[in-house]
Amino acid sequence: MYKHHSALGVALSLNPAAPVTLIRPQAAARAARYFSQKFPGRSLYAVKANPSPELLRTLWSAGITHYDVASIAEVRLVARTLPRATLCFMHPVKAEEAIREAYFTHGVKTFSLDTMEELEKIVRATKGATDLELCVRLRVSSEHSKLSLASKFGVELSDAKELLQATRQVADALGVCFHVGSQAMTPQAYTQAVERVRAAIVDASVTVDIVDVGGGFPSTYPGMEPPPLEAYFHAIYRAFESLPISYSAELWCEPGRALSAEYSSLLVRVERRRGNELYINDGAYGALFDAAHLGWRFPVQLLRAEANDDEAGMEAFSFYGPTCDDMDHMAGPFMLPCDVKVGDYIEIGILGAYGCAMRTDFNGFGSEGICEVADEPMASLYREEAPLPRKSNVVQLSR
Ligand SMILES: *Cc1c(COP(=O)(O)O)cnc(C)c1O
Repeated sequence: MYKHHSALGVALSLNPAAPVTLIRPQAAARAARYFSQKFPGRSLYAVKANPSPELLRTLWSAGITHYDVASIAEVRLVARTLPRATLCFMHPVKAEEAIREAYFTHGVKTFSLDTMEELEKIVRATKGATDLELCVRLRVSSEHSKLSLASKFGVELSDAKELLQATRQVADALGVCFHVGSQAMTPQAYTQAVERVRAAIVDASVTVDIVDVGGGFPSTYPGMEPPPLEAYFHAIYRAFESLPISYSAELWCEPGRALSAEYSSLLVRVERRRGNELYINDGAYGALFDAAHLGWRFPVQLLRAEANDDEAGMEAFSFYGPTCDDMDHMAGPFMLPCDVKVGDYIEIGILGAYGCAMRTDFNGFGSEGICEVADEPMASLYREEAPLPRKSNVVQLSR
């Protein structure tokens, strides 16, 4: 893959008619190093956020050795891409065939569950294995997160005692896990959830070997700028330290978004302008599912060779995607220079998590190019030095 200097360079040199995914391996590696070095425990990458093999290899090289997988296809993908990685099958509702293949073919020993039926299924599928690490998923609140994961999975506190005790009987290592919801905007989300873990452990009087605080670590988007990740790590560690667990108990987390968000962005072209609505060549059925269906705002910048230094000229725009469907609409608002026109290229940033992974071929608009670029992502939680304030949203060509 030819490596370009910048997003603008790709737009100018290729003039692409189809959307282009811009990848920034250096940004993903920086995020991985941050978690490996600063999270006070083990970080598992949640593969569903972005299963691209190049990203998996980048994270592996930067120190991520454990992977949270949720389907047998993800198990196979990671096993084939990173043969030495440790896989943890953290979906609480699995097919028995998937458990069997994961355990016997791929050596997976870590599974999550939230019912007695699933526990029985795991025991059956592994033929009563005695080397299992079993994590009981506890239901916790998603109140501090932008995307709830509270209703589908997790055992209620009132039913946790029986399940924890039964799991303890068959597990080599017993864990408790939860998920506070994606894009958790405050460390409190985790400290409140750990309090539930405490209540469950005390009530069941079991020895717990693993506390897994799940995903939910935020990235940074317009209007959703979180506190520094270190504040989350400190709060989690303090709460973990105060739990009634053995001295050797392990702390795990499962970041998906935080490790992948800065990895990619999207280069799109304006095909039509109607007032402040821009018809662009990717959308709800492409990499912009969250922008359409969740109203997620991503950072945008106009990529033009000549400068537009008039900052007063910024206006709010909404986008239509390329399909014939009214739902292919992204409300934004996306702030762009008021003179944006047909043929202009726009970079939509921080799309590495739950962006490219959601792309479909609907209506014949599935194709995308991929280019590696060397410039900084449009925003970052991992930049060592404070970012320079940007004068305008128009990037200028440096010659
Ligand atoms: C989706 C998911 C994650 C990753 O969540 P993020 O919010 O992307 O960090 C982690 N663990 C489990 C069990 C998940 O379902």
